[in-house]
Amino acid sequence: MTRLATRLAGLHRRLLFAEEHDPAMVQTVFGAMFVADLLLRKAGGSSMGLASWPMAGLGVVAATTVAAFTVPWRRVPPWAIGVVPTVDILALGLSRMDAAGSAAGVLAVVPALWLGRQYGRSGALVVLLATTLLLALPGLAYLGVSGATLARTVLIPPVATWAALAISYAIERVRASLEVIEHQRRVSQAIFDTVDVGLLLLDRDGGYEGMNRRHAEFMRLAYPDGHSGRAGELGAVYDATGARELAREEMPTYRASRGEEFEDVRMWIGRDPLTRRALSVSARRVENDAGQLAGASLAYKDVTDYMKALRVKDEFVASVSHELRTPLTSIVGYVNILLERDDLPPDVVAQLEVVARNTGRLHRLVADLLHTARTDEGQLPVVRTPIDLAAIVRDCVAAVASTAARNGVTVELEGPESLVVLADEERMGQVVDNLVSNAVKYTLAGGRVHVQLGIDGDRAELCVTDTGIGIAPADRDRLFTRFFRSRQAQERSIQGVGLGLSITKSIVESHGGRIEVTSELDTGSVFRVRLPLRP
Ligand code: ADP
Repeated sequence: MTRLATRLAGLHRRLLFAEEHDPAMVQTVFGAMFVADLLLRKAGGSSMGLASWPMAGLGVVAATTVAAFTVPWRRVPPWAIGVVPTVDILALGLSRMDAAGSAAGVLAVVPALWLGRQYGRSGALVVLLATTLLLALPGLAYLGVSGATLARTVLIPPVATWAALAISYAIERVRASLEVIEHQRRVSQAIFDTVDVGLLLLDRDGGYEGMNRRHAEFMRLAYPDGHSGRAGELGAVYDATGARELAREEMPTYRASRGEEFEDVRMWIGRDPLTRRALSVSARRVENDAGQLAGASLAYKDVTDYMKALRVKDEFVASVSHELRTPLTSIVGYVNILLERDDLPPDVVAQLEVVARNTGRLHRLVADLLHTARTDEGQLPVVRTPIDLAAIVRDCVAAVASTAARNGVTVELEGPESLVVLADEERMGQVVDNLVSNAVKYTLAGGRVHVQLGIDGDRAELCVTDTGIGIAPADRDRLFTRFFRSRQAQERSIQGVGLGLSITKSIVESHGGRIEVTSELDTGSVFRVRLPLRP
């Protein structure tokens, strides 16, 4: 039933609203109605013979129908098509010249709609004239003017004209709306093409639905040999370091086609080092009314200059920190030698201790910067030997004891006597040191820090819990980003540069481990590190 309704609606659209009007089709429908009317009248008792006016009308309709099928309408001038419906009205006029029945007047609506659709208001004028002169007047002349014949005839011209006007108005409205839509489409396309960001639309099955000019440029760089138009195709697309080709599952288009949303995924495209570009990709799901995945939109931002600037900055930081390290080591050494002397006056010792403390801080900072720069270059040497993690944790807790006591923070340690893991001793010292010293640093007087070491299956687990200032949920994901410092830390003027946690994370991950944080603002934080005992 619904199928039939859809078909009928489709036919109706093709008859009345199709851009390309098909005279043969409309004429066939009219001819069929005309014949049906004659048959019904015959069945109703009309005695029309072969030489009657209605039969002449039938002949005219047959002629126009043949013409509708045979004339090459595309090649004739536009006004010529109007001859067919006008002649149809004449055929109706002839058909009504029959004493037994003249109901065919209602069929005038079909050529009227046709003329109105084809020529707008001028078409309606033709309808008015044709229905009056070719249909109404001959009918009245044949049947004679009486109450009954007037009633059946007079209304035909205005009704047919009204139908023609109505459809011409509807078509005008449709055309105006189409023009607005087309204009908006052009504006959107212009904006789409003007923005300096590559835009790509995927359909529900991961097919490429559309892209702007900028993205077409990126495509030429990433797929010099062409692209199939499906998400996840491999090409000259590399990871954020630019060294490794992306696998299918890592491709932003593939991930987006699976309904994943993401932000700022960095990658490089292009094989030639001189022309390759760095892109930052974001993706959003497109959903239908039922909330199901209907496609995805992706935005590709060119971040080549930014990535190059970052590299230059990192190289600069690496070389400066390297240059600073040597003189600093010598200062630390000489200050320590001086502090070992027992002939110095107490005020000089106090001043030297200040120098030693600050040089120590500077030394750590330079070491952190150097570490960060090396991680970027992918050269973080990890020397794994069996080390006692329990001893490292004990040493760290002992080292922060005096600072903790000065700040009024209690530090507790819970763990085994010894816990051997295969890891880099110096770097593990850095991890424990960063976490424990942070816990003390970000905990206010009267607070508590609990350091717990244990084994969970085949992993060592270090848990540093504090009752400190905590971390806001929005900050939690950014904690491990370089130079990130929470608003709370800055407001309280707690010293730091925001490198410790990013370094900690890179060390833990280079050992095959994981670091997690749970925290609540003004309540405290828990940093948990899990390391494989034997990677
Ligand atoms: P730094 O301590 O030098 O600022 P980190 O990388 O160690 O750098 O830490 C980054 C940021 O994470 C800190 O600035 C602070 O805002 C937050 N943070 C780290 N540890 C804690 C903690 N235990 N409690 C609350 N905030 C913390």
